[in-house]
Amino acid sequence: MIERPHFIFFTNLADFQFELLRKNPPLASALQSLETCLLLVSLNRYPSALASCAMALESAWKAASKKGPEKNDNFAEILGDINATLPKEAPSFDFKNFRILRNNIVHFGYTPKDDDLAAKLIFSIGLPAFFLYIQSHPELHIDFISSLDPDLFDHLNVVIKINGGDATSKNISAVNSSLILRHWIKRSLINETMWQDDALNQHNLSGLIEFEVKEELRKMIHDGWELCEDFRCPVCDQVQLVVQLDSAEIEKGLISATKGHCLNCDLNFQPGGNYLLNYFINRNLGVEEKEKILKNYGVK
Ligand SMILES: [Zn+2]
Repeated sequence: MIERPHFIFFTNLADFQFELLRKNPPLASALQSLETCLLLVSLNRYPSALASCAMALESAWKAASKKGPEKNDNFAEILGDINATLPKEAPSFDFKNFRILRNNIVHFGYTPKDDDLAAKLIFSIGLPAFFLYIQSHPELHIDFISSLDPDLFDHLNVVIKINGGDATSKNISAVNSSLILRHWIKRSLINETMWQDDALNQHNLSGLIEFEVKEELRKMIHDGWELCEDFRCPVCDQVQLVVQLDSAEIEKGLISATKGHCLNCDLNFQPGGNYLLNYFINRNLGVEEKEKILKNYGVK
């Protein structure tokens, strides 16, 4: 029996999809190259992540067009063909800068100066093109909503959305826009090997110690930061994200955070413009919860 390819994030593939992967090997390469891209993103290796993203697109195209390994097509022509086969109502992608940077990275090299451009091109061009191409191509039959981890799919969509359209108005770099995504990916990998914690938990020891340490830390942060509130963390889903609210924004009736730290998973937002943090805080807060917070600070 042929072994199935192992996936880290495509955790919900059905048997018939594994059968499709077996019949069409470049499709498995495409999905695994996408996973490699995400792993490299989580480690801040954006140029290498961009090269993996380009590989994912090329393999997806090979799978869709049923090309054999012996034929080496020009990457520019492949990207042109991907654009040509996208649904008519979808906007076509401007692959020029993506292709030029990919060629430089693969055939020459890169410097730290390339990080943010590579991140920008991954999130605004590479990933959305890959998702749309695979999802809409009649030969490929991979549905990301059902096959990809749903939390990861959500975080990817948020990063793609932030980097699409008028991204400059959000005042956030492409690298910073992926902070939560990176933390989610790294944490999901740690969770796979947390058997030691499970063993300790059976004796109820680690939970007790952990609780006391977290409460001590919470007290320290609440004592040190002004206008402190606890919110639900977008990575670990616990109400352990302590944030400092912006007093000037509170007076205007807006909930806006200047910095934050999750006591449970160590997701950390440094002081400064925190578009990403505020996006999740406001998305998760109900109208009544917002009013309650504002009322606590004397704003109606
Ligand atoms: Zn957390």
